Amino acid sequence: MKKLRMAIFDFACCEGCQLQIVNMEEGLLDLLDIVEPVEWREAISDQSEEYDLAFVEGSITREEDEQRLKDIRQRARILVALGACAVNGGVNRLKNAPDMDEVRRCVYGNSATMPHLATAPTKAVGEVVKVDFEVRGCPMSRREFTYIVRCLAAATTPVVPTYPVCVECKLRETVCRYEFNEVCLGVVTRAGCNAPCPAGGQWCYGCRGLVDDPNVNGAKDIMDKYGKTVADLRSRMELFNSVEARQCQGQ
Ligand code: SF4
Ligand code: SF4
Ligand code: SF4
Repeated sequence: MKKLRMAIFDFACCEGCQLQIVNMEEGLLDLLDIVEPVEWREAISDQSEEYDLAFVEGSITREEDEQRLKDIRQRARILVALGACAVNGGVNRLKNAPDMDEVRRCVYGNSATMPHLATAPTKAVGEVVKVDFEVRGCPMSRREFTYIVRCLAAATTPVVPTYPVCVECKLRETVCRYEFNEVCLGVVTRAGCNAPCPAGGQWCYGCRGLVDDPNVNGAKDIMDKYGKTVADLRSRMELFNSVEARQCQGQ
């Protein structure tokens, strides 16, 4: 089987998702039977403009990033957004406040008006170019990354969950965090991580983004049952789903 030429690129992010790949160790060696890394700044010094599969980590925050991303898209047969920053803007989207001047003042203080500190709203990769597949999470799931790479190498379409984290949490028989008087975002967050946070005693903070069609009425019922409010749920969404949290204001 001809190996897929794989390139990994990073934009605005902590590069923790790439680190997850490096840390796969023997799992990574197995993947090298089916892919050939040709560019990957965090792991190799080679560079190439010829690749089949491009993983893009990080969100898009500057005009020059948009052109670079478009060039990557043009060269890649398949483009995969890697991690929450790339998939939906992740924590970087916290800065997409209605008043960008306030953001600049908050970060740069008296230097806020200096031209080289100009900042633009954060965009997800899919807001600039077409994305073929996504590896969600912060950091991204190694299991899901491996699965998607194997599917693409075998020319099959990966199937990723569209249901909420609660489904995986129930299958693990984890006691619900609402029973501990906490607010958990698993009710509206896309599954695929196997619900490690509730299993470890931590509420889900929504790093995989929202399900496509959140069951808002079901979520409200749970809030009512446990004496919580939609505002409580929304406050938890600020970290990874701040734009959606603002959109559902007043619901
Ligand atoms: S998704 Fe999280 S771990 Fe990955 S690059 Fe962004 S901030 Fe880092
Ligand atoms: S702990 Fe969270 S993810 Fe698990 S069942 Fe409860 S709300 Fe759903
Ligand atoms: S349980 Fe929630 S916060 Fe934890 S990995 Fe899954 S989606 Fe992310």
